[in-house]
Amino acid sequence: MSVSAALAPVEIKAPLVANPDLFSAKPSLIGLTREMMANALKEKGVPEKQVRMRVSQLWHWLYIRGVSDFDAMTNVAKDMREMLKAHFTIARPEIVEEQVSNDGTRKWLLRFPPRGAGRPVEVETVYIPEEGRGTLCISSQVGCSLTCSFCHTGTQKLVRNLTSEEILAQLLLARDRLGDFPGADTPPGAFVPTGERKVTNIVMMGMGEPLYNFESVKTALLIATDGDGLSLSKRRVTLSTSGVVPEIYRTGEEIGVMLAISLHAVRDELRDMLVPINKKYPLKDLLDACRAYPSLSNARRITFEYVMLKDVNDSLEDAKLLTQLLKGIPAKINLIPFNPWPGTNYQCSDWATIEKFADFINQAGYASPIRTPRGRDILAACGQLKSESERMRKTERLAFEAMMIAGHGEDD
Ligand code: SF4
Repeated sequence: MSVSAALAPVEIKAPLVANPDLFSAKPSLIGLTREMMANALKEKGVPEKQVRMRVSQLWHWLYIRGVSDFDAMTNVAKDMREMLKAHFTIARPEIVEEQVSNDGTRKWLLRFPPRGAGRPVEVETVYIPEEGRGTLCISSQVGCSLTCSFCHTGTQKLVRNLTSEEILAQLLLARDRLGDFPGADTPPGAFVPTGERKVTNIVMMGMGEPLYNFESVKTALLIATDGDGLSLSKRRVTLSTSGVVPEIYRTGEEIGVMLAISLHAVRDELRDMLVPINKKYPLKDLLDACRAYPSLSNARRITFEYVMLKDVNDSLEDAKLLTQLLKGIPAKINLIPFNPWPGTNYQCSDWATIEKFADFINQAGYASPIRTPRGRDILAACGQLKSESERMRKTERLAFEAMMIAGHGEDD
């Protein structure tokens, strides 16, 4: 990681980037497969024989050059650009808030336009720079229908699934803000890895359960890993699920990315409480699905996430059961010191307990890194910025609702 300057926590209040299309009903060209994009162009009268070439031009500008304005597409004829502008958008979401931690973690609260019916929605995206890598944590839903008791997002009701455009836009926007497209400068003082790329990895571990939004997540991740565009390696993309067993095999088969399981407990009674989806898909079913994950090998291990909760799941007996449970699964166990949020009843395990737990697992032959707490000064655990912002911007929301009632859109 190149650390050019130690940043004090900075909070920039919104809107940093206003989206001119916030109330536009124009569909976006971001997040469409090539086939969907071709159909969208044909519908607007682009001649059949030009369609393939136009799709490949657009793909290049959107995903290699990272433009967010049709006028920047200099090899596209002016009348074609005018047609695209009239019918589509490629604008980025609005940045409602951007926070930069003194450890370099960046967190954005983004607002997406309603695209016709409904109201704008807000989601969080977090960037975590480390030595040699920069990981972007992406959200898949607004809120979450699951109610994992240690998770702050679990306290926020599900509003809706994000579209493939909205999932992918989080990556595009982060790359904009980090100067990660060709020809762009890294913002002064940014903590970024020294390599060519600033976003090297993505994890679907933000707000929501990605496997409850399978199709949109699949489309977005296949575009993010497309070799002619954003080109992320599938081995650097991890999808984390709380355990939606019926979709686990498909994830490997149809998307082919790395899998992480939000495990957190090794006994069904406790997991039923911490991760309530366990009542539907108990540990045995979950681990059977993991054993059957396509192309599982020592080089493609499953990551098991385990949040360390004081006196809840952090005993050596738990550690022992954990190693027994994972027998036969090429696995890595990520121990996550609990990051407390306002109103939670849980506490983080003591550091000595976490180390003992890690040592035990390590001696049993599993890699057991302890995740360094990041961005505590900017509430970087998922769901926290959104909750804070909800409290702060009630007036703004009321103004928006008044406008919707006045006929600018339809409330859902
Ligand atoms: S841990 Fe994931 S699945 Fe569980 S409530 Fe939080 S966001 Fe939802």
